Amino acid sequence: MRGLVWFRRDLRVHDQLALSTACEECDEVIPLFVFDEPLLQSQEFGSACVNFMLGCLDELQASLAALGLTLQWRRGCQVDEVCRAAVEWKADVVYWNRDYEPRAKVRDRQIQQQLAQMGVSARTFKDHVVFEAEEVRSATGEPMQRYSAYRARWWAKWHAVKPAVRAVPRPSTTKMKTVLLSPSPLPTAKELGYEHLIPWIAPGERRAREQLRWFVEGPIHRYADGRNRPAIDGSAKLSPHLRFGTLSPREAVQTALKSLSHSGPASWTDVLAWIDELIWREFFQQVLAAFPHVVDGPFKNTSVPLSRDFGLERYRLFQTWCDGNTGYPIVDAGMRQLNQTGWMHNRVRMIVASFLIKDLRIDWQSGERYFMQHLLDADAAANNGNWQWCASTGTDSMPGYRIFNPALQSKKFDPDGTYLRLYVPALSMVPANRIHEPHLMTLDEQSRYGCHIGVDYPAPVVDHHRARQEYLDLGKHQVTG
Ligand SMILES: Cc1cc2nc3c(=O)[nH]c(=O)nc-3n(C[C@H](O)[C@H](O)[C@H](O)COP(=O)(O)OP(=O)(O)OC[C@H]3O[C@@H](n4cnc5c(N)ncnc54)[C@H](O)[C@@H]3O)c2cc1C
Repeated sequence: MRGLVWFRRDLRVHDQLALSTACEECDEVIPLFVFDEPLLQSQEFGSACVNFMLGCLDELQASLAALGLTLQWRRGCQVDEVCRAAVEWKADVVYWNRDYEPRAKVRDRQIQQQLAQMGVSARTFKDHVVFEAEEVRSATGEPMQRYSAYRARWWAKWHAVKPAVRAVPRPSTTKMKTVLLSPSPLPTAKELGYEHLIPWIAPGERRAREQLRWFVEGPIHRYADGRNRPAIDGSAKLSPHLRFGTLSPREAVQTALKSLSHSGPASWTDVLAWIDELIWREFFQQVLAAFPHVVDGPFKNTSVPLSRDFGLERYRLFQTWCDGNTGYPIVDAGMRQLNQTGWMHNRVRMIVASFLIKDLRIDWQSGERYFMQHLLDADAAANNGNWQWCASTGTDSMPGYRIFNPALQSKKFDPDGTYLRLYVPALSMVPANRIHEPHLMTLDEQSRYGCHIGVDYPAPVVDHHRARQEYLDLGKHQVTG
């Protein structure tokens, strides 16, 4: 039997269900990747993401070669290319791992139908999450909307199922014949229409596994505090790997739990806090799967203040946010980190999102789009879920509005300003007691620390206290009609 394994967001050979099942069931296996032309053209994702993906594919090609398999790639409309490849290479079965994004589900259904018409079977697997939406439901069988309840049921399921991690498939020389297709070099970012850059987080399965090992041997046991400090390596920096599937989420959870049995300092609280984040990731995946309308608008129509109308002022304010020129150092450091590296610390993501929505009163979808275009880990489910959380329109939205005070957040989580100085060089000489609100420096201080407000570093584009009050008043006005 000949099987085609279609790689998508699962660019690894360890614990890869579609690949290992194909290797068990088929005599001949052909791995395939399709560059989705319409998606490439749409520029929905940016160069950071595309370069990261290419790096992962490069390594995957080598890992598959070591198993005697030749990764084939095509470029075009995925529906056409997968079906065409199945016919050309006379595949009996096409294997792939499931994707829960609404348009991916439509595409996969189309492919399944076309393959069926051609007499080719399709086999699909759970891979991107530990538990799919249907596996973690409320007592009445409904999709879940509250994280705390979801988390409790997720853990109950984990203990009941104890998900296993699969090893790298071992092709048996007697069974698996190499299909004689010549390898072809992968396209470059430029050839795909993107700028070439070196990803700030190293791509590929090997690096993902090294990064996980590094994290569980140290930082995970200080995670509860460390994750909130943008100046230190306190979180795993595995999000692009989980996004592109160079790391299996099952393996991530199991490795974290195993770290508790190592000798040396181990902390349950910290390890569970980290696994909590992986469960948040699954929570948002199931929200997207069960409530696909979230891609086009709010999860629920809570009465949040209307955003600013389109116009010059909105354009100007949005641009200061994108460029990291708002005059609020923690917001600017975050946006500059994103623009320079394709990554941003989670605490800072929440601060910049709150600032865009509540202080600048710009619609959250504009921020969501900007993040998708610039993040290395751009993921529709996590990005949408978090933006909606920040906008108070999502699941788990709090009564009232979450409005972060940028200066207080900055003082609390980057007290000596190390992170701020890293990304806002104009503040490099400003001392810790002034760096969080540099516009409060006297003229004398500005000269002393080489940072003239309005010249070297912008004055605040809005006054936070006034903007906060306006937002609350608008909300009240809308609630009371
Ligand atoms: C406005 C906003 C937009 C975001 N957009 C994305 C996105 O497009 N892609 C993305 O992967 N994450 C997104 N996040 C979540 C989070 O910021 C990143 O997952 C995290 O910063 C990645 O760093 P890490 O790997 O060191 O995380 P760790 O703290 O080490 O967490 C481990 C893993 O858990 C998952 N995770 C952590 N926090 C969250 C969360 N709040 N929601 C969902 N999953 C989480 C990630 O896969 C992460 O790699 C967003 C958060 C906000 C506030």
